[in-house]
Amino acid sequence: MMGFDSYYSNTACDDKLAAISADENRVLLTRDRGLLKRSKVLYGYWVRATNPATQLSEVLQRFSLYSQLRPFQRCLRCNRILNSMPKEEVFQNLPDMVREYCDEFYLCPGCGRIYWKGTHYEHMNEFIRHIYSLFDSLT
Ligand SMILES: [Zn+2]
Repeated sequence: MMGFDSYYSNTACDDKLAAISADENRVLLTRDRGLLKRSKVLYGYWVRATNPATQLSEVLQRFSLYSQLRPFQRCLRCNRILNSMPKEEVFQNLPDMVREYCDEFYLCPGCGRIYWKGTHYEHMNEFIRHIYSLFDSLT
C-alpha cells in the first residue's frame, strides 16, 4: 500500500521466509527473533512495536523511508506496479456503481486486478495520513 517492493505471507514457514529474503535480497521484517538468527538471513530487522501503524512508522524511521512513500502505486495482491488505465478499457469489468461514479482507474499488469478510488481507498488514505502524522510528531 505504501509503494514499496515487498513480499508478505502469514502462511509461509520460517525456512521459506528466510530463503526468500536471501534469494531476493530482501530485508526480513519480523517479530520472531528466532527467525532472524537463521544463517540464511543476511538482512533482517526485529520490529519492536506490536500495533500495525506503529510498526509501519518504526520501519519507515529505521530505514529512513518516509521520503520514499509512494502510496497506491503497487498491486496489493501481487506487488506489481499499477498502470493508469482509461475508463473505456476497464468499463466492462466494473461494478455498476463504480461505472457511474469513478473516472480514474489503475490496472495491475500481473494479476489483472482493477483499482479505483472508492470507499476502501478513503479508509486506506486515512491510515496513510495517520502514518504521516506519526512522522510529523517526531520532527
Ligand atoms: Zn496484481
